Amino acid sequence: MQARGQADDPPARLPGPAAAPAQHDGPAPHILIVEDEPALLRTLRISFRARGFAVTSAATGREALAAAGRQPPDAVLLDLGLPDTDGLAVIRELRGWSTARIIVLSGRSGSADKIGALDAGADDYVIKPFDMDELLARLRAALRRDARPGDGSRFRIGRAEIDLAAHSAVRHAEADDPAGEDGHDHRQPETVHLTPTEWRLLEILLRSPGQLVSSDRLLQRLWGPGFEDSTHYLRFHMARLRRKLEDDPPRPQHLLTEPGMGYRYQP
Ligand code: CA
Repeated sequence: MQARGQADDPPARLPGPAAAPAQHDGPAPHILIVEDEPALLRTLRISFRARGFAVTSAATGREALAAAGRQPPDAVLLDLGLPDTDGLAVIRELRGWSTARIIVLSGRSGSADKIGALDAGADDYVIKPFDMDELLARLRAALRRDARPGDGSRFRIGRAEIDLAAHSAVRHAEADDPAGEDGHDHRQPETVHLTPTEWRLLEILLRSPGQLVSSDRLLQRLWGPGFEDSTHYLRFHMARLRRKLEDDPPRPQHLLTEPGMGYRYQP
């Protein structure tokens, strides 16, 4: 028996176009499967490995968090009914420090359960018993939402350039600024200083390009439970981000407010 909670499963490749995880370049996406039912866990592991994913598995909430900490997954398939902790608690904990896509696998089909999981930060919800092809399609969609050009950590907001991996933000000079006396442009990009809260808020938005991120979700991820009514904090920090990053802060083009709902990074 293999030890769980480790990257114990190098991806097995099958011939043919179905083998590769579509739409994803570079290394195989790393999927963490959290499921306490051994037969289902085994089926999932085999299916995902056969389709070219790197698979890690865990059978409890604690194992899942430890595994995700050791080797950050691109996506987590998470059973809600775990022997040690509630799956919702695992979602909240992961959302505190992980940008992995989370797809809930649940036997509970009530809408309250679905809403609870999505509000806690899950990206999608699949009800057991599920069709494997549908689960794969949902997983691919979730990973596509995460697809970024280039090295995956660089983003543009007008003349501002943000590198999440390097934790750096700079603003380039306006193209029509006068160049130096000798005709050469000596103007250096100007460093933009962001607070830790601004970084986290920005990262959450940038990681979901084009997607509406609800205020509740942002509050949950930034400050945890108990701040659901603190939307004024979000407005404050968003206003500061716009002042620092948008070319024309009163008329933002990229860090957009969706009134009454949340915020969106428009690439
Ligand atoms: Ca279970």
